Amino acid sequence: MTACNVSIGQFSSVQPATPKRVIFCDFDGPIVDVSERYYQTYLKGLLAVELAAELATAQGQPLLAREQGLNLKPLSKAQFWRMKQNRVADLEIAMRSGLPAELFDPFMQQVKRIVNHPNLLRWDSLQPAALGALHYFKQRNIRLVLVTLRHPRQVQAFLRSQGLEPLIDEVFGALDMNAAHANRVDHKCELLMQAIAQQKDLGHLTQNSWMIGDTEADVRAGQLMGLSTAALCCGVRSKTYLQTLSPSKVYGCLMTAALDVVKMPLLQAA
Ligand SMILES: [Mg+2]
Repeated sequence: MTACNVSIGQFSSVQPATPKRVIFCDFDGPIVDVSERYYQTYLKGLLAVELAAELATAQGQPLLAREQGLNLKPLSKAQFWRMKQNRVADLEIAMRSGLPAELFDPFMQQVKRIVNHPNLLRWDSLQPAALGALHYFKQRNIRLVLVTLRHPRQVQAFLRSQGLEPLIDEVFGALDMNAAHANRVDHKCELLMQAIAQQKDLGHLTQNSWMIGDTEADVRAGQLMGLSTAALCCGVRSKTYLQTLSPSKVYGCLMTAALDVVKMPLLQAA
C-alpha cells in the first residue's frame, strides 16, 4: 500500500525539545460525520443505475432479462445508516432498496466512482463533539496524530475549512482514493505501524498510547500494535457491533473519549 504522511503542526518535522505523549486518532467518524455523504452517494448510485437501465431499454438492449422495469425504493437515511452501522452487506442494502442482484455490480462501481467527488465531499460535516475534544488534547499538551484511510489532501482541505489545522500535529493518510470506502484492516495496520515508528523516531512518547476510531479497522490495528483502543459509536459502526471487537473502551463521541484517555496514564502512575 502507498501511504503518505503530512506534517501540519508548527514544529512537527524537527526533533522535539520536549517529548510529547502521542494519541493516534482516526478521521472519518471521530472527527467527521460522513453519514450524509454516504447516504447521498447511495441515492445517486441508485439513480445512475436507474437512468442507465432506462437508456439501455430505450436503445433496445435492456439490462434486465425480465420484462418489467426497475421499481427502486430508496431507504430513508435512518434505515440506511442503521444498516451501515450494523455491517449489513452492501448487496443486501441494495436489494432491500429494490435493486435486482444483476445490477449490484454497476451500482457499486458507481458508488466507488463518486463517493470522493467534491460534490459529495461537501456533505461531510464536523462531529459536534470534535472541536471541544481537539482543543482539550491541545490544552493537555497531547500530540494528536491522525491515521486515516482518506487521502491526506482531503483531510487537510477539511481541517483548513474548519480552522482545525493548528489542533492536529500530523496526518498519516492513504494515497489510494478508494481506501477509505474499502476500509481494509491491513491498510490501517500498515499506516498505524508507520505512524508509531515515525513518532518514536521524533522522540515522542507512544507507550501507554491509544488508537481512537469508529470501525473494526481502527480497533484491530490498535490491538495488533499493542495500543489501548477506544471505539466510538458516533461513526459508521454501532455500539453493539463495536463491543464484539473487545476494544479497551467504547465511547459515544470523541469528547468523552478524550476526557478519559488523557487522564488514564496519570491514574495508572498514581
Ligand atoms: Mg473511521
